[in-house]
This record gives sequence, structure tokens and C-alpha cells, in this order.
Amino acid sequence: MARNGKRIESTMQDDFPLTITSILRHGSRVFGASECVTWQGDHARHTTYRQIEVNARQLAQALTRLGVEPGDPVATFCWNNQEHLEAYYAIPCMGAVVHTLNIRLPAHQLTHIVNDAEDKIMIVDGSLLPVLAPVVSELPSIEAFIVIGDGDTALLGDRPVHRYDALLDAEDGAYTWPELDEKSAAAMCYTSGTTGDPRGVVYSHRSTFLHALATLTNQCVGSTEADRQLTIVPMFHVNAWGIPFAAFLSGTTMHMPDRYMTPAALVDFIEAERSTLASAVPTIWGGILQVGAQREIDLSSIRMGTSGGAAMPRSLMETFQKQYGLPLIQGWGMTETSPVGGLARPPADVEPDSAEDLDYRMKSGRLLAGVQMRLVDDEGHEVPWDGTATGEIEVRGPWITGRYFGIDTPEKFDDGWLRTGDIGTMDDRGYFQISDRLKDVIKSGGEWISSVELENLLAGSPEVAEAAVVGIPDEKWTERPLACVVLRSPGDAGEDVAATLASFLAGKVARWQVPENWTFIEEVPKTTVGKFDKKVLRARFGRGELEILRLRD
Ligand code: AMP
Repeated sequence: MARNGKRIESTMQDDFPLTITSILRHGSRVFGASECVTWQGDHARHTTYRQIEVNARQLAQALTRLGVEPGDPVATFCWNNQEHLEAYYAIPCMGAVVHTLNIRLPAHQLTHIVNDAEDKIMIVDGSLLPVLAPVVSELPSIEAFIVIGDGDTALLGDRPVHRYDALLDAEDGAYTWPELDEKSAAAMCYTSGTTGDPRGVVYSHRSTFLHALATLTNQCVGSTEADRQLTIVPMFHVNAWGIPFAAFLSGTTMHMPDRYMTPAALVDFIEAERSTLASAVPTIWGGILQVGAQREIDLSSIRMGTSGGAAMPRSLMETFQKQYGLPLIQGWGMTETSPVGGLARPPADVEPDSAEDLDYRMKSGRLLAGVQMRLVDDEGHEVPWDGTATGEIEVRGPWITGRYFGIDTPEKFDDGWLRTGDIGTMDDRGYFQISDRLKDVIKSGGEWISSVELENLLAGSPEVAEAAVVGIPDEKWTERPLACVVLRSPGDAGEDVAATLASFLAGKVARWQVPENWTFIEEVPKTTVGKFDKKVLRARFGRGELEILRLRD
């Protein structure tokens, strides 16, 4: 609106870019003495954020020498460790795109993802070479490998292989970070498709910066320079929930478990380095309790634990509170949402440690400032925030994806809102609760299993007339697949044919994705449009009507 001829416009430096480079600069200068601590099984390697920046500069120089240009994807196939953190900064801050690869994916998905992104260079932990070796010949875009630590590089075939330390040692570090556009691509992560292949989500510098800031508010994790944060959630799974970036903004020391990911090893790390925060999927939290059932464990250093990626059982939360005085809080997010959309911090007027306090911490999350959420019913109408009406959760915001890399999926968006595929309720204070999933996938130990893929494979077996796979609750893994099979010769039903079908699947999907629960049924129930009606199968399972055969490992 014009006033005295002058239009009032912002006088701020609104074109100042929000980049990962400014996060790196801040962390290494203001919190130069904060540390990345990498566990080695019985002791830790300590590196300061000041040193991480120096190493990141050398890595950026080396990658430039290897031909990496702005916009090029550089893949990482790594555990959570110091070198992975250096790559997390070097690659985006030089203008390239860090593409984190899930080390647990079955071979065909891994090759699809690398080939879809056309990764140019791959940084791989030496200890993971045997995992990568079987697919190396199917990754034509990779021009060279960089290997961290020891490992048999002969497994990588005849492409150039560089040793990480030697590569960095050869550089003088005289590298100036380039000025970057905040909207340029910084990082890339693939999510599992409910049908078909995984889909790529590409984070910008701006989305990463804003997400990190939001997680540092007191409504979210709010870590500080006094904290030591155990980052159990893998750096290949949605940027380790953004912790590496939040840590450099806040001066929080990072505890990196490297390959020592068993609950017992994690407890050793916590005890030795006195972690104050920890973030993990429910399966890991459950595993830590089991270690506690076997020996005395000291979790007294942890002031708060966050759990996300799958629903947390109430009993687990209660036990942590009772036995260890450790409050766990649930959070919700997706690869598509960077990931954090909400953390269920109880409201100010609730008594800490009360039953009500636990009720709130059991919610999936309280909406994080910056994210907009709405719940939409089957007819496309928004449902009220009354804590009971259910609808599909839809989100939008500066760290929510607006599309997928390289493919058009209009069904995943609703007028600019991301359709999450999660069904839930929302109360009048912004606490939401996931109650169901539209997505036809199973989440086991925090990682996805595609029910559709298992069904397609089973349908290809000569014994099977049709098969549907549903997720069923599992104490350890949260969910496990249950294969519901109609046999061509129903009289064969029994453990033998289940074992035959399990071994039929064994070579085709990752071993942990093969169902151990089997049931033989007369017919797969169908919806009106002839799709498998898995609601009916889940309900029949819930009522105990399915006879389950459980194969031993
Ligand atoms: P991902 O993209 O692998 O991180 O998976 C995201 C999905 O995990 C969400 O859409 C939910 O279905 C599920 N999820 C994440 N957090 C929670 C939670 N706290 N409770 C229940 N499901 C969750």
C-alpha cells in the first residue's frame, strides 16, 4: 500500500541465503571445540567441529579433483561416523548433492536408486565392502570409489578406488566454500514406494537449515552445547533426523555408533561417553531394555530420549520411566518431511511424570512450528481438531517435499499438500495421533518391507494361487510381515510348504524381509474394485481367526 508515495517494503537482507555452509561455518567457529565422537567398540575417537570443517574442505578439494561439479550426486554407503559427517558437509557445501544410501536395502533396490540418481562417486565404509560387492558391477554411473578405513578393495572390481585418509592428506585445505543458492539441491534420500520402486526426495539448503532451526526449539529436541547426542538413527535414513545439522547450529556434541549398533554396544557407548540425548526407533529402545534385563546398565546421563519412525508401545515408555527415570518422547516424520513434523512434548500445565504426562508423550507428535497439517476424510473434507475425528494427515511447509525426483505422482499431493498416507486424529492443542496407515507397507525395525513386492514374488511361485501380505504387531520389530497364502493344492498347507515358500523368497529379497509368519486361507478377501482387502485380513488376524504358522530362524 502506497503511503506518501512510498510503498512499505521489507528492509531486511531477505536474499541472504540459508545454506548448509553457514551451518558449517557457525559450528566450526562458534562451537569449534564441540565434538564428533565415533565409537570403536571399546573406546571412542574424538574430533572437534573445527577439525571436521578442515577435513571437509580437504574432501571438497579431493572431490573437485576427481571431477565432481556443482549439482553432481555423490553417494555415501556408510555408518554414522566422523567421515560420514565430513561428507555430509563437504558435498553440499561444494555445491554437489550428498546422496545417502540405505545399507540394508535389497540389491535390486540399491541398484535402482544409484542408477536413478546417476551417482558419480561413492564413499563407502571399508567394513561395508562385502555388502556392496554383489551389486558393484551393476552401477555403471559410478566413476570412482572412496573407501573409509580398511577393507578389501579388490571387491570393488576395476574402477578407481581411493583411500579416504590418503585422499585428504594429499590436499592442502586451501579451499573456499562457494556462494550457493539456498534453493539448490543439497541432499537426497529415497523413500520406499508402496508399489514399485523407491522414490527420491531432494532436500535444499534452505529446507535443511530451517528444519534444523525448528528442531532446536524447545518444542522439539532443543539440544544445547551442554548436550551429547547419541545419534542411533542412521545417517542414511532422512539425514539422521537432521541431528548433524542441528548439532553444528547448537554446539551439541554428536555421539556416533559407527558399526557398533547392537543394543549392548550402544549401552557401552552411553556409559563410557555419558550421552545426554538419544534418538532411535522403538526396536532399538526395546533392545536396550533387554540389555538392562540381563545386566545392570547406567542410563542416568540421558535427560531425554526420542523415538520415532514407528509407533512406540506404551509399556516400553513406562518401563523406561520406572526403571531408569528416563522420559521417552515420540516424534513423527517421514523421508518426505525432512523428517520432523512434530514431537510430543507434553503441554506446560501437565505434571511431569504423571499418567497424563505419559499420555501426551505417547501421542505421535505436537505440530512443529513451520509445518501446516490438516486431516482429510474420505470425501475430501477437513475434519475438526477434536481428538476423535479421523482423517488422512496432509502436510505442507518449507521442509516438506513438493514432488518426487524424476517422476510425476499427482496422487501423492492434494492441492499442494503432501498426502502422508497416515491416518490419525488431532486435538485442539496440535497433538496428533497416528491410528492407521493407508500405505501398503510394513515397517519392521524402522525399515520398510514392501508387502506388494512380497505378494508379487509369491504369486510367481508354482505352489501359490494368490497371496496377500500384511503387517502384524511384533514386540521386537514393531511389525513383521504375515503372508496369507491361497495354495493351488490346499491340502498341502503346513509347515513344509511355508518353509519352501520362505526359501523361494530368500534369494529375492533381503533376508530380514522374508516373512516368518504364514497362514493358509481359502481366498484373499477383495474390495468392491477387486483389490486385496487387507483391512479384513488384519481384522481376522486381530480376532484370532487366522491359524499362524511361525517358522523358526
Ligand atoms: P520414513 O519415510 O521411512 O521415515 O517413514 C515414514 C512413516 O513412518 C510415516 O509416514 C509413518 O507411517 C511412520 N511413522 C513415523 N513416525 C511414526 C510414529 N511416531 N508413530 C507411528 N508411525 C510413524
